Amino acid sequence: MSRHFGQRAVVIGAGIGGLSAAGALSSAFQEVVILERDVLPASIMSRAGVPQDRHPHLLLAGGLQALDSLFPGFAQDLGAAGAVPVNVFKDVQYERPDVGALPRRDCGTSLLCGSRPLIEHTLRRKVTAIANVKVQSQSRVTEIVPAATRPMVKFENDAGVGAAIEADLVVDASGRGAPTLGLLDVLGWERPQETVVGVDISYTTAVLRPGRTSFDWQNLVTLPDPATSATAGLIIPLEGGRWFTSISHHGATNRPGTWEDYLAAARQLKTPAIYNAVYKLLPPGGLRHFVFDASRWRHFERLKRLPRGILPVADSLCRFNPVYGQGMTVAAREAKLLREILDRVAGEADPIEALQAGFMSEVGALLQAPWNMGVNADFAYPTTRGQRPERYEESRQFEAALFRAVVADPVVQRAFSDVVQLMEPFDLINSPDIRQRIEAHSLAQNA
Ligand SMILES: Cc1cc2nc3c(=O)[nH]c(=O)nc-3n(C[C@H](O)[C@H](O)[C@H](O)COP(=O)(O)OP(=O)(O)OC[C@H]3O[C@@H](n4cnc5c(N)ncnc54)[C@H](O)[C@@H]3O)c2cc1C
Repeated sequence: MSRHFGQRAVVIGAGIGGLSAAGALSSAFQEVVILERDVLPASIMSRAGVPQDRHPHLLLAGGLQALDSLFPGFAQDLGAAGAVPVNVFKDVQYERPDVGALPRRDCGTSLLCGSRPLIEHTLRRKVTAIANVKVQSQSRVTEIVPAATRPMVKFENDAGVGAAIEADLVVDASGRGAPTLGLLDVLGWERPQETVVGVDISYTTAVLRPGRTSFDWQNLVTLPDPATSATAGLIIPLEGGRWFTSISHHGATNRPGTWEDYLAAARQLKTPAIYNAVYKLLPPGGLRHFVFDASRWRHFERLKRLPRGILPVADSLCRFNPVYGQGMTVAAREAKLLREILDRVAGEADPIEALQAGFMSEVGALLQAPWNMGVNADFAYPTTRGQRPERYEESRQFEAALFRAVVADPVVQRAFSDVVQLMEPFDLINSPDIRQRIEAHSLAQNA
């Protein structure tokens, strides 16, 4: 593609959303400048701007696929950097309260498990290797200044020294969307409606070094029965022979303050699997905590008008409950959508406007399935706040039937795996063959 979309795209934020979008845009602009408030570390380490990076970050298979198609060789680099391959569900012990552990069948999908700093570092290396992409750290965006043709982005360094840069396109991947919302306020334009689902998830995480202790799974998930408990547990591997273990509480109940408290909470889980795996170990780095208050979809896609050349993406547009591991994958899939639309609108008289309109008209469909899957599961907890989805009881009953069929039928389990890993659309579960299999297992169960 020729670089005739414009001279410059500016991306706010060098998280997963910003890096992915910058890569997608690089073939369409003379230069892409990423403005990031943090100092970006040269090595694989946590940073202040993404405090969630001290907690497990599962990159779903759909996200790995999207990043590998945007940045050929990404998966290979991530594996070479130490991410651990995990076969879904052969290596996954996934314990549900209704049907018990799902069968450990090979569903033909592989993940690579690593820390969020490792995933981001690998992606950043890919992006900075693109000749016309520049990452400018210590550049906190303070304002987008409206203009009839090219918006101006103002930013400042840690010493408060300011500068400004003009752009043909501004991608807001700041995580909170504050620059775009601020711009709407300055213009006196309507802000987007929001769908908010309050979950108040508190995470408590430890990093373990089991040494010679080995497990017969690579991922262990223990879910509660939401009617009686709000506590779930997780263990996943990360690079360097280390493992994350996390306990999450729905509804922000008391969080474990010490390792002894953590073990006590692990003991209360639906099965003893997590407790048995960790009770002999001691986390060298202690416990880390994080509270996530609410999933939030800002419906920019429903606004009658957006300022020219402004594109909110990733968490700025929609933040998902992190327990379902969807945020990075959705961010990568949005970048892939951007790339597809760029190709499609390249011949338009005003490609910037066509890109903005095209993205906004298609992104809702991309967000809907992961949003629905998460929110439907969240409303099983009595403490969840917000508007229940329409036909909620019906979808809960369908989910119960689905999991019975997942246990009994490898074809249904594979379809479930592809959908939940965001590789295939949810419609796959609704296809006549899968529907018929789910109904057949329900009938057999009730006979
Ligand atoms: C506890 C927790 C666990 C999670 N676990 C998972 C998981 O298992 N799997 C998964 O896929 N997702 C997970 N997520 C979600 C995931 O972190 C995000 O969805 C994903 O990183 C995409 O976010 P983003 O790029 O939009 O924003 P972020 O990753 O938050 O990045 C935003 C970037 O913008 C920068 N920035 C912000 N404001 C400015 C400004 N004014 N100027 C310049 N720079 C700015 C920040 O410093 C940061 O670098 C989890 C989230 C949380 C909270």
